[in-house]
Amino acid sequence: MIEERAKQFRNYTDRINAIDKAIEMFNWDIRTSGIKDSVKSLSKYIGILSQESFQMKTSKEMENYIVELEKCKDKLDEITLAQLRLCKKEFDSKNKIPKEDIRTYAELVAKSGDVWKQAKESNNYNLFSGNLDEIIKYNIKFANYIGYKDHIYNALLDDYEPGMTVEKLDVFFSEIKKSILPLLEKIKNSKVKLSNKCLGRKVTKEQQEKVAKLLIKALGYDLNRGILKESEHPFAMSFGKNDVRITTHYIEDDILASFYSVAHELGHALYEQNSKDIIANTILDAGISMGIHESQSRFYENMICRSYEFLELVYDDLMNILGDDFKDISLQQIYECANLVETSTIRIYADEVTYLLHIMIRYEIEKDLLTGNYDINKLPDIWNSKVKEYLGITIKNDGEGILQDIHWAAGLFGYFPTYALGSAYAAQFLHYINQDLNVYDHVKDNNIEEITTWLKKNIHQYGSIKLPEEIVRSINDEGLNASYLINYLEDKYSKLYKL
Ligand code: ZN
Repeated sequence: MIEERAKQFRNYTDRINAIDKAIEMFNWDIRTSGIKDSVKSLSKYIGILSQESFQMKTSKEMENYIVELEKCKDKLDEITLAQLRLCKKEFDSKNKIPKEDIRTYAELVAKSGDVWKQAKESNNYNLFSGNLDEIIKYNIKFANYIGYKDHIYNALLDDYEPGMTVEKLDVFFSEIKKSILPLLEKIKNSKVKLSNKCLGRKVTKEQQEKVAKLLIKALGYDLNRGILKESEHPFAMSFGKNDVRITTHYIEDDILASFYSVAHELGHALYEQNSKDIIANTILDAGISMGIHESQSRFYENMICRSYEFLELVYDDLMNILGDDFKDISLQQIYECANLVETSTIRIYADEVTYLLHIMIRYEIEKDLLTGNYDINKLPDIWNSKVKEYLGITIKNDGEGILQDIHWAAGLFGYFPTYALGSAYAAQFLHYINQDLNVYDHVKDNNIEEITTWLKKNIHQYGSIKLPEEIVRSINDEGLNASYLINYLEDKYSKLYKL
């Protein structure tokens, strides 16, 4: 009897998953098709499908499943239990939000992406501020509907990183601030200047596509189950483990920008491609949290692809692709370029050290926005003054300032902190893997597969079955610990800059 109900429940969640993936497919298309006005049609469909999905997630039928299955939890298998946990969380939070609000909000967000893009391209914040204000107000409204303890921001943080709170993040960022600001100061004052020789040279799109293929091969991304396309802002999107897509953005005079954005998105994609078959195309066939997801992208991007050993591994092939214009660039110079610490205005091109400060700026602003105590017209000024304070640089226009990220246009509040958590988890995992196998010896030997196998066994295979805390604790019985990241950065950059 209970097995039969559990099966019906899983069929029901499969239907929800299909609708959600259809919504994602429209979003993928809006961002990659290049059809200028398509958003006007597709956002309408997205609105209707979102309402459909919302109804199923909050329906009486779903409530019945939750009530019945919760009563006999001890008889349920691991898969059903994990699905139940996800659905219950969503039911509890979404049931508190009126359906009409969900529909209008989904349409608003779908349209805002396009407005944001125009605003960014013309450096005109005012073009987008109305949409942004509306999106923030909706998020405040939703957080209040959902309810929270202590800080209103907690309601949204928990969505991306289950269990995460302002209290924990305040501690985390204060530790980061305490160590990273002095580290950055020492680097700035160091007599050692790393080479930036490979930057600013023209690299054609065709060459960059070849470089991307080189990375795809080295990291083991399965192109039978994925594709690389172009978009304004690079991202990864999964339609289940057998169709995990990534995008990048080619910049003609900066080979490393797309090199590392591809490496980053490949990390996300590997996580999604490596889930176990039993959860394929179910709601569990996705990473458990943004923090764990970001730990995988940061791990491949920074710990693997920025290492000397990795650059040594791909050096000859890279030089063949880049041709005569790069003939005079040595391996050491590429390594230095890839790890150059330089304060910059743009988050996605920031180095490992200053990146954390970019996130801290967004965390502090979001925390304030959610309290509702803000002036929408003052946001660029607030942004610019924080950049000045932490990074010591002056923002010249809104395109390189407050408009640089798509996140707020996409309604993603509470998402940014997960990037910093990702770096912290990645450093933690690097430490743990090194207990079992020497990571950089394996990179040197062109055996990244073995490292990925470790990650698959301990993290990837579970999809959304295990919670972030369970994953971390199952490896080493400790929770999030910022000291691994701090040690990793201090160690690496002390050597590079002879501090
Ligand atoms: Zn990412």
